[in-house]
Amino acid sequence: MPGMELFGAEERKEVMDVLETGALFRYNHEEMRQGHWKARELEEEVEIFTGAKFAHAVSSGSTAVATALAAAGIGHGDEVIVPPFTYIATIEAVIFAGALPVFAEIDENLCLSAEGIEKALTPKTKAVLLVHMVGAAADMDAIMPVINKHKLTLVEDAGQALGAFYKGKSVGLFGKTGAFSFDFFKITTAGEGGLFITNDEKAYKLADNFSDHGHDHVGNNRGMEKHPILGFNYRISELHAAVGLAQMRKINELRDKKRANKAYMKAKLSQITELTFRPMPDPDGDSGTFLNFFLPTTEMAKKVMKEFANHDVGGCNYWYTNMYHFINQWEHLKKLRSAAPLAIHHFGAPQDYNKLELPKSQEVIGRLISLGVRATWTEEEMDKQADEMIQIIKRVIG
Ligand SMILES: *Cc1c(COP(=O)(O)O)cnc(C)c1O
Repeated sequence: MPGMELFGAEERKEVMDVLETGALFRYNHEEMRQGHWKARELEEEVEIFTGAKFAHAVSSGSTAVATALAAAGIGHGDEVIVPPFTYIATIEAVIFAGALPVFAEIDENLCLSAEGIEKALTPKTKAVLLVHMVGAAADMDAIMPVINKHKLTLVEDAGQALGAFYKGKSVGLFGKTGAFSFDFFKITTAGEGGLFITNDEKAYKLADNFSDHGHDHVGNNRGMEKHPILGFNYRISELHAAVGLAQMRKINELRDKKRANKAYMKAKLSQITELTFRPMPDPDGDSGTFLNFFLPTTEMAKKVMKEFANHDVGGCNYWYTNMYHFINQWEHLKKLRSAAPLAIHHFGAPQDYNKLELPKSQEVIGRLISLGVRATWTEEEMDKQADEMIQIIKRVIG
C-alpha cells in the first residue's frame, strides 16, 4: 500500500488551483476561491466510488476513526471490541474517546471473526470497531448476524481498505459509520488525510460538526454559525484535499493494476504447495493491495523473512515482529502509559492486556507474510521478485 505510486501532473494541477487563489481553508472565503472547493469535490468522488450517501474529509485516518466513533455515539465508559491486528490508531481512537478496548480473536481472514466477537461479549459491550485489514473485507455474512443479534453498534476502520468491497458494497457502509485513511502509505494519499463515510444523515451531520468545533456550516458567517455540539479541529486543509482529489480520480486505475499484478504473483507463488493464502469470502471485492500468504509454521515464516533480508529481497511485511501492527509490540498499551490520565485509568481496563491470551491471532499473524503489491511493477520486475521469493521459501521449507 505504498502511496504516491501514480503521482504527478494531476496532483500538481489541483494543488496549484488552490495556491493560486490563496484560499487554503475548506470553508467560506467564496470571494477568493474562484469556484474551487477541493475538500467538497474529494468527498463527492468518495461518495461516487463507495456508494456512500455521505462522505466527510478530515485531517487523517486516525481522526476519521475518532469521528466515526463519536458520530456513532461511542464514548465514555463504553466497551468496544477491537482486533489485536491493526494499526495502533484504532486502539488509540477508542481510548481517546474515553471508551474501553476489549480484544477479540481474528482468524485467517485477518479480521475479527464472528466467533471471536461472540466470545469477547460482556453485558457492557456497546460496539464493535471492525478493521478491514490489509486491503480486503472481513467476513460480513458471518459478522452481521452477531452485530444484529446482540444489538451492537458497528463502526468500521477501513483505513487500509479503500477500494475493497463485499458482495458489491464498499467497506465502511456495513455499520453505522466508517473511516478511510489517505496517509502516505495507503492506496491513495493526500500526504495526510482521512475520510468519514456513512449512509445515516444524522451521523453525517454529527461528524461534520464534530470535526470542526461543532460549527454547523450553515450560512456564510463563520464566526456566528450555530454550534449544536462540542467538537474539535479535525479539519482537512484545501491543499491536502487537492492532492487527495487527484489521487481519488486514479483509484480505479490503481486498483485494476494492483489486482492484475496480485493475480500474477499469486499464480507464481501457488507452485509452492505448502503455502496457503488469505481466504477471502468475496475475492472479487479485493482491493489488490497485498498478497497475504501463510507458511506452515511461525518458525518457518521467521526464517523466510531472515533469508529475504540476507538476500535483499524487499517488498514483504512480517507483522508479527517487524511491524507495529500487532499487539505483541504494544508495550505502552499493556502498561496503559500515556501523557496524562485517561478514562481507562479511571474505569480500569476491561481485560488485563498483559495477560491476554489470543492463541488463534498469535498463530495466524506468526505464519503470515504480506507482499505489498505495486501498481507500477513491470512483468520483468514481478518475475524477478517471484523467482527470488520462491527460491528462498522452497529452501526454508525443505
Ligand atoms: C493507517 C491506518 C489508520 C490511521 O490513519 P492515519 O491517516 O495514518 O492517521 C487507522 N487505522 C488503520 C487500520 C490504518 O491502517
